[in-house]
Amino acid sequence: MKKQPSPISWLRRVILEYLYPSRCICCKNEAPIGASTSEYVMLADPDSELRGVFCARCMSDFLTSCAARCYICGRPYSSCTCAPEAIRSAGVDKTYVCFGYDKTRRGCASSRLIYSLKSMDNKDTVNFAAHLLCGRIREVMGGDVGDAIVAYAPRRRASVREHGGDHMRETAKLLAKDLGCGFADAFYSRASGEQKKRSAVERKEAVGGIMTRKDAYKLRGRRVILIDDIITSGATLGRCASLAFDAGARDVAIFALARTIKSKKK
Ligand SMILES: [Zn+2]
Ligand SMILES: [Zn+2]
Repeated sequence: MKKQPSPISWLRRVILEYLYPSRCICCKNEAPIGASTSEYVMLADPDSELRGVFCARCMSDFLTSCAARCYICGRPYSSCTCAPEAIRSAGVDKTYVCFGYDKTRRGCASSRLIYSLKSMDNKDTVNFAAHLLCGRIREVMGGDVGDAIVAYAPRRRASVREHGGDHMRETAKLLAKDLGCGFADAFYSRASGEQKKRSAVERKEAVGGIMTRKDAYKLRGRRVILIDDIITSGATLGRCASLAFDAGARDVAIFALARTIKSKKK
């Protein structure tokens, strides 16, 4: 059930928008659709997660990424459940993502979105990421997730230092609040070097640097919602899922914002 905004929150929004006009989270240039008060009232779904986020051009580009199709099942990534081998071998059969990430299309809305999230330059992006994941999780798991606990794939230590934090930690905390369930700081990564520059074999070795923290005891007997930004080889999430099961998790469900688009099977 969507709730209507109260007159006070609406008025607050009008004033804030006047004082600090919002910008599209991708291009950071144009005003997003739904930011102006007239559009806000007109939009069919005032609580839509896309409202006030993208400008018209980035929105249409983003929707293209959502419609991109998986090369295995042929369904759009937003409804594909194909898990990579590294995740299946950890005992999780399905993965759920929100859109396809095409790394060959530089400057497209989805890559700008991921870049903004990773660089932690805008808290609106973290908000949006959490809302997007929240929608997908409710779609798959239903409304009743109060007994679940949210954990996240940790960022490399060097990267945390470089960007001043872990974007997935921030996303996971917000997500847990949105879902009304617990949050666990269950893992950390000692790995150095950049994951995206590694081959599949190197990735598998590097994820050995991911360990559990004290907080991992919270996973015992729980349904764990494990999140990350992008699934490529699945090595990182596979490792986290194994560690979660070792810590006594009853079940692990994996959700990511995006899946790297591949055209052919490796
Ligand atoms: Zn834009
Ligand atoms: Zn698929």
